[in-house]
Amino acid sequence: MDMHGNGCSRRRFLAAAAALPVMGLVACDSGGGPVPSSGPVVSGTSQAALPSVGGSTSADSYYPSHGNGGYRVSHYALDLHYTPDTGVLVASALITATASQPLSGFSLDLHELDVTEVRVADVPAGFARDKRKLYVRLVRPLAAEERFEVLVRYSGRPGPVRMPWGERTGWERSRDRVVVASQPLGGPSWFPCNDHPSDKAGYRIDVTVPESYQVAANGVLAGTRRESGMTTWSYSHPGPMASYLATVNIGRFTFADQAGSRVPLRNAYPPGAAEEFAHDFGRQPEIMNLFERLFGPYPFEVYGAVIVDSDLQAPLETQTFSLFGVDQLDGKRGKERYVAHELAHQWFGNSVTVADWQHIWLNEGFATYAEWLWSEHSGGRSADDHAARTWSTLSRSAKGIRIGDPGQRNMFDDRVYVRGALTLHALRRTVGDDAFFDVLRSWSQDHRGRNVTTDRFVAHAERRTRSALRPLFQSWLFTEGLPDLPPPR
Ligand SMILES: [Zn+2]
Repeated sequence: MDMHGNGCSRRRFLAAAAALPVMGLVACDSGGGPVPSSGPVVSGTSQAALPSVGGSTSADSYYPSHGNGGYRVSHYALDLHYTPDTGVLVASALITATASQPLSGFSLDLHELDVTEVRVADVPAGFARDKRKLYVRLVRPLAAEERFEVLVRYSGRPGPVRMPWGERTGWERSRDRVVVASQPLGGPSWFPCNDHPSDKAGYRIDVTVPESYQVAANGVLAGTRRESGMTTWSYSHPGPMASYLATVNIGRFTFADQAGSRVPLRNAYPPGAAEEFAHDFGRQPEIMNLFERLFGPYPFEVYGAVIVDSDLQAPLETQTFSLFGVDQLDGKRGKERYVAHELAHQWFGNSVTVADWQHIWLNEGFATYAEWLWSEHSGGRSADDHAARTWSTLSRSAKGIRIGDPGQRNMFDDRVYVRGALTLHALRRTVGDDAFFDVLRSWSQDHRGRNVTTDRFVAHAERRTRSALRPLFQSWLFTEGLPDLPPPR
């Protein structure tokens, strides 16, 4: 995949990844025999009165093989024991979910790892594996709306999930360290999940590592516990969070709080990087304050940046703890736009999340526009200037792109980012600053913690501005040709 320059999603270790174990289909029968896939059934309610197997696909436009039907997850409690020397993970996941239809079985996304036990309501359940899914067969069927707990014990040497065109997402090991950057498909590389952004949940992530290592994961560090040369790091995040935004980073970190914002800020960076971090990320509180003013209250309980001691090709907006590589530190604030970009995603992408990957411009266009807003605010180029330059560059490219439905291959194409930002600038020029920022604020506040579509955004903007905006969005989002920017007001 072509790399874009805007962050989020195409970040990889430059070091070689760990070798992956190879698994075929493994059927295990500890309670009722293997369960076949039920075919292309989508999530959601079912009219069927009799219990049936929930779907093993989602209805996603780009990644239907990720995601599962028949239930919704409300909480993941992950207990990970990791040995850095060998790369072996021994883990359990306690998943709390609610059946959305009468269920005789269901599936979870889990990439290659070995499953040793599945229990539902503390009773052993039958299960079967293929390379990507864990199929669970229930001893006692579940009624629609019944809440249940499933415990999965699993182990192995996690490695990234390969995208259809060869890119890798998810758990990556480099030397003795681990970085997890999962957008869009890497969640199942390290825990069983309903891997679709429309099923968001709360998380508890406990990670036990040798005491010379530190761990940075989503949410608040609830505590650490030392025993026999090992330390257990317990993180808690009520979310709701999509599986692609969950992260665990294992290595050597210095943790430091940062003052200057209403929101608690805690950061993690490699020992020895304190000075560069203090300079390059020094305006993070100021960016937070600007975005709270423009977008409404920060949607989560804590924020910060985790800098891993590896070169990543791009940062990622992992929830509450955005992920950067040491290549983002240059001592010159040369990458500050990424600091703004990933922070903006906490509103646009993480709190307000796409219901389908097709709507990715709602993440990337907004975060890119936030870079321009920070630039404008901090004495750099104005948004008008960014827009004019970007428009000029795009107008010279041979072929445009329909960013409202860019296709799986182009999801993270740079044009989705910059034309998305231009779309917002076109809206701003059309309705004026007051109405425009009202649309942004109310969009993030009205849909906080929820899932959204492009159609919903268009309807929202029309309602808030009392303007007919559909033709504007149609031309910017669903045609290849580049529309002219409306004149400045
Ligand atoms: Zn982004």
